[in-house]
Amino acid sequence: MNQLSDRINAIEESATLAMAAKAREFKSRGIDVINLSLGEPDFKTPQHICDAAKKAIDEGKYFSYPPVAGYPDLREALAAKYQKENNVPYKAENIVVSNGAKQSIANVMLALLNPGDEVIIFAPYWVSYDALVRLTEATPVIVKGTLENDFKVTAAQVEKAITSKTKALIFSSPCNPTGSVFTKKDLQAIAMVVLKHPNLLVISDEIYEHINFTGDQTSIASLPGMFERTITVNGFAKGFAMTGWRVGYIAAPKWIADGSNKVQGQITSANCSISQRGALAAISGDLTPTHEMVKHYHKRRDIVYNLLKDIPGIKANYPQGAFYFFPDVSYYYGKSNGERTIKNGDDFCLFMLEQGHVSLVPGGAFGEENCIRLSYAASEKDLIEAMSRMKKALADFK
Ligand code: GLU
Repeated sequence: MNQLSDRINAIEESATLAMAAKAREFKSRGIDVINLSLGEPDFKTPQHICDAAKKAIDEGKYFSYPPVAGYPDLREALAAKYQKENNVPYKAENIVVSNGAKQSIANVMLALLNPGDEVIIFAPYWVSYDALVRLTEATPVIVKGTLENDFKVTAAQVEKAITSKTKALIFSSPCNPTGSVFTKKDLQAIAMVVLKHPNLLVISDEIYEHINFTGDQTSIASLPGMFERTITVNGFAKGFAMTGWRVGYIAAPKWIADGSNKVQGQITSANCSISQRGALAAISGDLTPTHEMVKHYHKRRDIVYNLLKDIPGIKANYPQGAFYFFPDVSYYYGKSNGERTIKNGDDFCLFMLEQGHVSLVPGGAFGEENCIRLSYAASEKDLIEAMSRMKKALADFK
């Protein structure tokens, strides 16, 4: 029997989580798999954040439902961060704290989209953008960046894709899965296009803002005229190694924050109280642990880049942020090692998991069949070993 709704039947399981589950299953069978599928920092949450959460439990003051949009002091601190670091004049009333940035995006989409609305998604895109748009019965309009242009969608491409039904556009910068970063100039060009259309909104996913090697982290909401047009999405998982704590947030014009708040009140009540106390310590505390982690990611980026370049046929851009590579592996499609033929990205990843014991994610899940995603949020030792396994496993394909 399948009585699931058409909406649910129309979307796939999250490919990142599915590949991570597969890698765990292999591991549980005693197979030494190197898991480069899930985008998850391999560091522990900094101690001062853990201490704040422990203190919150011991104080016994945080056992009741928090306010739906988050504790006022956390929302104040997030607004202050955006004023100080990102030059966007958000106030607490513009902030809604949720169970991870993924829920933040889902709230916004449920609050804004009607069936038939179009949402321009910059591709390669993070897996859940497309699924969440379809869940609301709106229509994803995929606009693709090319490897030659560092996978960045241009303002001219955006302009061409806009129709009378376009409600919003969504992208991440630094980008999951490509690691590309939109410069201030890139964003200014996109903003110029957006501002020509009085009702067009931008969902700007900035969850990797701390893991940006360029020194240019611009929030599109800070550009003239864009405050009213932008929903900024962010969270604690990546910059503070807090994936399991599940704290994300939006900063948006009040009417959108209020709409998201309404959705959240109906489906989850609020974000976990103790996690919010940890998040407050993270946002108001010292960023040294974050900077230390970023130094590691920076070094690993170069290690992996050099090893990837050494594998015949693989083409990669040089990512400027986040912790992913999104190499084009299509050279291997249609090739065989005598036993197996790699037909596409799914096959490539399955082969790599089964024979190379390296877990990756097929690029189709991110809107680009020719590529695969590799997370370098893993130790240098594991990354070097994984690259050597990949090179060896691919050596016989002709
Ligand atoms: N954002 C991470 C990733 O892309 C976590 C998994 C997920 O939520 O999809 O791997």
